[in-house]
Amino acid sequence: MGGTKLLAGAVDGRLGVHHRVQRNVAGLDQSALIETAVDAVLEARQSAGAEIAAVGFGIPCLMDQRSGRGVVAVNLPLADIPFADVMTERLGLPVFVDNDANAAALAEHRAGAARGHSEAVVLTIGTGIGGGLIVHDEVYRGAVGAAAELGHMVIDVNGPPCQGNCPNHGCFEAVASGTALAREAVRIAGEHPRSGLGRALAEGRLIAGPLVTELAHDGDSAALEAMQLIGERLGVAIANFVNIFNPQVVVVGGGVIAAGELLLAPARAVVAARALPPSRDEVTIVAARFGVEAGMIGAAALAFDGLAGGSVR
Ligand SMILES: [Zn+2]
Repeated sequence: MGGTKLLAGAVDGRLGVHHRVQRNVAGLDQSALIETAVDAVLEARQSAGAEIAAVGFGIPCLMDQRSGRGVVAVNLPLADIPFADVMTERLGLPVFVDNDANAAALAEHRAGAARGHSEAVVLTIGTGIGGGLIVHDEVYRGAVGAAAELGHMVIDVNGPPCQGNCPNHGCFEAVASGTALAREAVRIAGEHPRSGLGRALAEGRLIAGPLVTELAHDGDSAALEAMQLIGERLGVAIANFVNIFNPQVVVVGGGVIAAGELLLAPARAVVAARALPPSRDEVTIVAARFGVEAGMIGAAALAFDGLAGGSVR
């Protein structure tokens, strides 16, 4: 579950996906979100053609893993909900729940771009920015399971208010998420009315990540300016993570990574210029293997781990 969309799938023990279900979740209230998630799981279950052993969820919510409770979501109206208990009752199967970005980090570490690395930072950039940390080959979850909200690290002390339910301002998420990309693209389009981006704005087209990415890939100067700006901010955040965690790899996923090198190249340049040695010289910064499916595949891995006796319920 992300801030805008939900993906469900029937996933086998090798993390192969056999059936995919997508639902929009933007604008839904909590009870509608639950119904939509149940419906998507039931569809995937019916289509699986095999017995389903458990259900794993990655939800964009700060978790208290002592009880499986979702405490608060920044970009969705989920708050104070015993998510694991509710879903266990609704689905009649063992249920395992984690933050969506932690699930994505698990997927990338188990079978994706962070495989073989003991220390990794995994960023999921979409409506918001999710963070996952691999520390000593394990997902780091903090004292009660609420880590690692890397998207809410402040990178601009006097920056704009953060999104949704975050009380902070100048957060990484506030200035470099897909939402921030769309906002900056609208501003730049207004300043360059004769650019492709400017004409799209004048025609009333939706200025959001997919269109900006398409125009930037086509070489439109205004769209490239927006990508460069977001990529440099991404680099500032990654420089912080490189200095603090000394990871072998930083993996960037989520919908926004459809822009690929348009974001990663300026981010790498900022890290090279601003992070400290030796960490900056050891790290690689790469796109996620599983893209927007990382959270779903990681949720399945979480469920398999849980069935095998892991600690996260
Ligand atoms: Zn924030």
